[in-house]
Amino acid sequence: MKSLKKLFLLLIVVGLVAAGVFYFRDTRAPQLSLTPGSGPISKKTKLLLSLNDEGVGIKSVQVVVIQENNQLPLLKRDFPPQTRVADLELDLSVLKLKEGGLQIEVLTTDQSIYHLGKGNTTQQLFTLTYDTRPPIISVLSKAHNFTKGGSGLVTYSLNEEAEKTGVQFGEHFFPAYQQESGSYACLFAYPYYVKEKDFVPQVIARDLAGNERPAGIYYRANNKKFRQRKINISDRFLAQKTPEFEALVEDASDPLKIFLQVNQEVRKQNRNKIAEFSNKTSSIPLWNGAFQRQPKAASLAQFADYRTYYYKGKQIDKQVHLGQDLASVAQAEIVAENVGEVLWAEYLGIYGLCVILDHGLGLQSLYAHMSQLDVQLGDMVTRGQVIGRSGATGMAGGDHLHLGIFVAGIPVQPIEWWDASWLRNNIDSKLKTD
Ligand SMILES: [Zn+2]
Repeated sequence: MKSLKKLFLLLIVVGLVAAGVFYFRDTRAPQLSLTPGSGPISKKTKLLLSLNDEGVGIKSVQVVVIQENNQLPLLKRDFPPQTRVADLELDLSVLKLKEGGLQIEVLTTDQSIYHLGKGNTTQQLFTLTYDTRPPIISVLSKAHNFTKGGSGLVTYSLNEEAEKTGVQFGEHFFPAYQQESGSYACLFAYPYYVKEKDFVPQVIARDLAGNERPAGIYYRANNKKFRQRKINISDRFLAQKTPEFEALVEDASDPLKIFLQVNQEVRKQNRNKIAEFSNKTSSIPLWNGAFQRQPKAASLAQFADYRTYYYKGKQIDKQVHLGQDLASVAQAEIVAENVGEVLWAEYLGIYGLCVILDHGLGLQSLYAHMSQLDVQLGDMVTRGQVIGRSGATGMAGGDHLHLGIFVAGIPVQPIEWWDASWLRNNIDSKLKTD
């Protein structure tokens, strides 16, 4: 009886040991990754260390930074049982590091009793470069003159590669493009809606380690007042446009409601679409000399006319006219105002049948309300090449061309680009001397 009890106890012990071995039967080493795990980093870089062990879990981790002959302990941590995954942020700012190469050594062990109870260990070494110096920006161009609603250009050089560089003020960022000479050219706008006190353009450059520095530029900004215009929406206009507009809106019941949806919602969608095109630009200028104003065309509505819309004497809407209207004869030949690539050649909401050309450095031109298009997506066009015929498609009451010029998706004053001396003094001469 007594020996039977002993045997029973022995069986229980054996069973427990077997279960234990089975439970700790983890021969797989824990896995680890570091992001970023190579390349340049700065004091501010967030280094993320991810650990995981699919078996019994992570037991401990140890991180040491090695620079030259110094071993600098950064982190040591033990984990509670069953920790399968752990994400840790490494903070290098607590260490005294020198500029230049460094290595990060990570050692992690799991809870397994293998290797005489020491567990499975993974050790990995990451080689990175410690860089805390922001790029040095040397502005090359001089005398930057801006008029509200207009454009300008700055050129500069950087002493190191940049992840992001361009001109910034407030919420606005205009990307710069590196030129063949190695220096950068940034075309930017003084947007028609930005207050004079808020237009403080600065060149910024962020290097691959994330170090960033702004540089001021010398500039003069001239204010400009834009016109106020009243527009009467007649029943005749609504009757004429409703069949075309019905296709652009969801709720197509009342002609006035349809008009307002197109003038507000569709207009907004079209603006966003145009802004998306700004990144599809040549990094070198494609234009050649001043823009060619449409031949023999008279100016109608102007850039940044602030419009108030009335219907039967009642105010119904407000919008800003973001281009220059030009008209000659009906179905007049419309020419490309400069050398460029066709980014769009089809119907686009309020712009009707429409062509958008890219001229490089984020400069783009838009030709709206056309009756016929003679170019296709991807075509390269020359200055003065016929791209179609004028019409009254989209938000247009009569046959005319609506010309829009955009810098990084921001609408700008076309007259500057038609002016050969403005272009020479403010844009082309700055590009030549970079
Ligand atoms: Zn227009």
